[in-house]
Amino acid sequence: MMSIICSKCGGTHTMCEAMIEPNTKKFDHYTDESFLYGWCDDCQAGTILTDVDEVKNDMKAQYRVFKESYGIEPQYANCRIAWKDDRKQDDVKIILSAELAGDETFYNCNSLNGLLSLAECRKEDFIITQCYSFATLTEKERLERQTFEYEVEGKTISMTGKEIMDFYREHYRLTGEELERYAARNACLIKYYRVSNIPLLDHSLVKRLLDEEELMKKGETKSFKLQLFFLWYVTIKKEDDANYKPFKYMTDARCLDNMQSFGRRYVSLEAALLHCLNGFNENANIPDRYRSTGEYISKQRRKGGELWHR
Ligand SMILES: [Zn+2]
Repeated sequence: MMSIICSKCGGTHTMCEAMIEPNTKKFDHYTDESFLYGWCDDCQAGTILTDVDEVKNDMKAQYRVFKESYGIEPQYANCRIAWKDDRKQDDVKIILSAELAGDETFYNCNSLNGLLSLAECRKEDFIITQCYSFATLTEKERLERQTFEYEVEGKTISMTGKEIMDFYREHYRLTGEELERYAARNACLIKYYRVSNIPLLDHSLVKRLLDEEELMKKGETKSFKLQLFFLWYVTIKKEDDANYKPFKYMTDARCLDNMQSFGRRYVSLEAALLHCLNGFNENANIPDRYRSTGEYISKQRRKGGELWHR
């Protein structure tokens, strides 16, 4: 029996503690954790020892038990590994199929044979020293690994279920159906808006939009980012529809930091922009910060001027 190896070099010149009958020197059993504090003559150092055949037999037995119990293939194995460089150990999930592997995956071994080979000292920087059990991914784990893709303004935006769930975290516990129906699309849109170079609304943009108002056609939209306490993405559309008189413009605002959104109609572009600059204030008891876009522009200019002269 030569299968107890050094987890670092794979060598078999190893030693560890064991209980023996002192009078006959006959081996009785290994002490608890004796493999954790083994010695390797090749490395000339303390090392974690592993019984390769035992680990492999254990894997095969666990695999059989899982298949007999559930009638399906397991998707991952719960294993303990030893790192070769620092003798530290970790409990990890080893995925058994490439199609289930995602960003979260510690390691994908493709098959039971792949898993068995990880119990041997191969090129990987770790070695499996124990296999606890086999399992299938939960609904949540499956969704987390899934990739969702949407096209926004000609660009393909992709996000993993994990990223989407992280985004919604505090607000909702999403089901797979909700994720597929709207949450994934919404999160991809927000991701796109966050990274796109849509201009931030400032005094010069306010001025330009107002100057160019005459040129805006019915149905045309203008978009910008708006930094309030949170970052927003705002689209103003010129409706000019007889059904909505006296309203001419409509805003569609979407918060890029959380799930708020906001929409309203206005009689003028000036009113729409002013409402944005006043942080969508709807509360009559809270005075508006600016009474007009002109006040905003001159205050911002003065601020810029002060900075300039400093
Ligand atoms: Zn060694």
